[in-house]
Amino acid sequence: CGIVGILGKQPVALQVVDALKRLEYRGYDSAGIATLEDGHLVRRRAEGKLRNLELKLSQAPLTGAIGIGHTRWATHGRPNETNAHPHATAKLAVVHNGIIENFRELKEELESKGVVFETQTDTEVVAQLVTDEIAQGKTPLEAVAATLPRLRGAFALAFLFEGETDQLVGARQGAPLAIGWGEGEMYLGSDALALAPFTDRVSYLEDGDWAVLSRSGAVIRDKDGHPVDRPVQTIPPGS
Ligand code: GLU
Repeated sequence: CGIVGILGKQPVALQVVDALKRLEYRGYDSAGIATLEDGHLVRRRAEGKLRNLELKLSQAPLTGAIGIGHTRWATHGRPNETNAHPHATAKLAVVHNGIIENFRELKEELESKGVVFETQTDTEVVAQLVTDEIAQGKTPLEAVAATLPRLRGAFALAFLFEGETDQLVGARQGAPLAIGWGEGEMYLGSDALALAPFTDRVSYLEDGDWAVLSRSGAVIRDKDGHPVDRPVQTIPPGS
């Protein structure tokens, strides 16, 4: 179970996979990646080892310069391609580590509004809740801000939005998530090890934090929405 996000200058898919390999030690049963191709969300997902995802990417490459990736350790829903992350709607793609403990009641609420779920995961409620808020007129960031307080449990999340080619959103509550600072490039990762090929400057989100990344930097907010500074740490080489 690992999360990677890259806002880059070149196609990022292979970099995302390389960073996911550095998170393999955590264990996983499936993997996936989403990018924006001409602003449109595109995914590749595969059951089993990252090798399977790499094969799919070699057969059908992704060229987006922004992307999120995930290695999944299934907690809710069988470890198959359908349940592999990223989960996506017409508006966004999301990857998640952890468990959304109140997903059943959230799912029932959305289903009673007519939302049709594609997967058996707890994670898909996050995708559908944010999508529902956007459908009601909120911006993607307003929609995330409205959704996070409704989620119970431990999670790290990363979001990619349709049409938003210079924006990634990360959130942390009880599962680790780090921001990597590059030169005109920015990163998200479950730990500094995942980001080591790209940068040695890392900020760790604290519980309740969520961050909006663009290629020029990041704005981090606490659970009350107040902007906060989290120190930038320099990771020693070889760690
Ligand atoms: N609970 C989520 C799922 O089963 C995420 C698991 C993970 O941390 O990889 O899909």
